[in-house]
Amino acid sequence: MSGSTQIIRQALPIALSIVAVTWLVPLSAAQSAAPPRKDSGRLGPWTVRPTDHFDIYYRRGQESRLNEVAREAERAYLRISMDLEHTLANKVPLILLQTNRDLPQHPGEAYTIVRASGAPDGVDHMMLSLESFSTRVTHELTHQFEFDLIPRPCRVPAWVLEGLADHETGNWISSERSALRASVAAGLIPAVANFATGDRLWGHALFDFIMAEYGTQGARRYVLAACERQTSGAENARDAFDLASTEVSKEFDRAFLRYLRAQFN
Ligand SMILES: [Zn+2]
Repeated sequence: MSGSTQIIRQALPIALSIVAVTWLVPLSAAQSAAPPRKDSGRLGPWTVRPTDHFDIYYRRGQESRLNEVAREAERAYLRISMDLEHTLANKVPLILLQTNRDLPQHPGEAYTIVRASGAPDGVDHMMLSLESFSTRVTHELTHQFEFDLIPRPCRVPAWVLEGLADHETGNWISSERSALRASVAAGLIPAVANFATGDRLWGHALFDFIMAEYGTQGARRYVLAACERQTSGAENARDAFDLASTEVSKEFDRAFLRYLRAQFN
């Protein structure tokens, strides 16, 4: 999900809101340059396979990957559900496309795919391609949990949503780790209070720290506190984490700094 997804989510009909999550994922330069190749004509009609927590919409011709997709999706669900101590009230409609180039580029294309797949209107969808399924499923499913956990009126900062989704995915891309390492070495570490919309990497590091320091309850508390901050008037996300204690907030910042220096040296 890009940083602008929240805005678009609110501007779109609800049926398209989560579709935006995947088609707003930045494509690589090569993918962007390639002409869109909409669903291969070799694939047959859409059908659906239910699993414990998903309804997987796929096309005939994709069956050979279906067991693997179902297994990975359920594994991701259990991990996120355990970390956030939350279960989704409804099954997730998961629409499978063949390649990254089949992913929609704008809401109109997304809407066409949702309608063609037979997935229900009026709910959030996940839309992933087989080509990048393994690397994207945990990230995108984390957004489903975030949207389910966070009350609708809240506009939680994008770095919170992306940071938690990247944390749940569990891996650091080496170039991203190098970028943080260089910033830490140069002493260019923004205060948590000053994290901006695009500070996804700092958000990822922060959720790694919160999970290590505060356990599985920590991430959930932090996301909900970021929402609480909007109604409480607290000045920053750090204060939101523990509104009652300034001393704890100061120690939170100091501890995060120590963590960064230890992890990204
Ligand atoms: Zn995202």
